[in-house]
Amino acid sequence: MAGRAEAEKLDRSNELSRFRERFYIPPGTIYMDGNSLGLLSTDAEKSLLRRLDEWKNLGIGGWLKEEKPWFVVAEETGKLASRLVGAEKNEVIFTGTTTVNIHNLTGTFFQPDGKRNKILADQLNFPGDLYALQGQLRMKNLDPRSHLILAGPDRNGLLDEDAIIGLMGEDVSMVFLPSVLYRSGQLLDMERLTAAAHERGINIGFDCCHSAGIVPHRLSEWGVDFALWCSYKYLNAGPGAAAFLYINKKHHNLLPSLPGWFGQEKAKQFEMLPEFNPAAHAGRWQISTPGILGSAPMEGALQITLEAGMERIRATSLRLTGFLYDSIMTRIIPADNRFVLLTPREQHCRGGHIALQHPRADDIYNDLLSRGIVTDLRPPNIIRIAPSPLYNTFAEIDKVVGSLLETAAEY
Ligand SMILES: *Cc1c(COP(=O)(O)O)cnc(C)c1O
Repeated sequence: MAGRAEAEKLDRSNELSRFRERFYIPPGTIYMDGNSLGLLSTDAEKSLLRRLDEWKNLGIGGWLKEEKPWFVVAEETGKLASRLVGAEKNEVIFTGTTTVNIHNLTGTFFQPDGKRNKILADQLNFPGDLYALQGQLRMKNLDPRSHLILAGPDRNGLLDEDAIIGLMGEDVSMVFLPSVLYRSGQLLDMERLTAAAHERGINIGFDCCHSAGIVPHRLSEWGVDFALWCSYKYLNAGPGAAAFLYINKKHHNLLPSLPGWFGQEKAKQFEMLPEFNPAAHAGRWQISTPGILGSAPMEGALQITLEAGMERIRATSLRLTGFLYDSIMTRIIPADNRFVLLTPREQHCRGGHIALQHPRADDIYNDLLSRGIVTDLRPPNIIRIAPSPLYNTFAEIDKVVGSLLETAAEY
């Protein structure tokens, strides 16, 4: 179903519509880029201003004050966020950044052993993830050209789980994959991939940057070994806020590859001992003093996500992307068959955004931008459209589709 009347009907029955008024939508825009940078909420603004006030009024006293001390922000935020990904409280910590966490956790989980000395990843992952894996291989004196196995796309530009599993050979020590592909929006079956890796004695980790806060996970139940994700996309914590990492509790005895004093057991941290006595949980993978101010919006933003609830967020997201998908199929593609939908239609294969391919994608993207519609261009030919269940409406999607139609006619 598509069209304005349908959009209005869907907006009336949207149980998350009340959250929109808590976000700052950039004036005069339809903002559909929350998978690149989520928007500021009044809640996040408040938690940021409170931290600033604490610094102003307490100075160093902020670290150990009674309520919400800075010293345990990483642990406390990790505990709250564990609910979003189906992890236990001490399996998640709010620390580092995505790429730093990839380095740290690959250093821990990639332990080449005889013939088992390769990493399996995919060609379609975010390039920075691949650079980190290449660097980790080189650090162990292994050549990425022979030791980084990359699963490639099928003829629809998607990853095929059977093909990935087929590559999980006896030479593979670690698998690292995205949960949702950042370009196509394809959602992989993490449970199945994890089971397949474990049957073959391989550790598996996921980059959940494009699924955290939009797709529910059951990381502990699936037995995923490790995962990491940023907080500035669907989690709306602001540009460059700290990221998260998850380590399955069965691995809490492993050592971080980039140890630092914030990974020390809390009770001993200020004894300033020369020995590293790491925390007994995911907290041991922390490195440095946390960026309290830059990460302060996370507290308010997380409150909103927890209040909305992951199941409701996912249900609404599927309705939004489903409506967008159907509108494109029924209104856009019949009018201009240069458009190709890259994202799978099946709900269990779809993340939070829709990827649309067109040979003039950059012109269309810029034209949309000049009309106040913020989408996202992935050169050379992909436009990503991400309707957020927390602040977008079906009526906005209907307008975006109308503008796409007008715009494409010009190119
Ligand atoms: C957003 C994103 C990143 C960004 O990494 P930073 O270290 O935060 O710059 C990395 N990988 C994936 C898959 C992403 O979606």
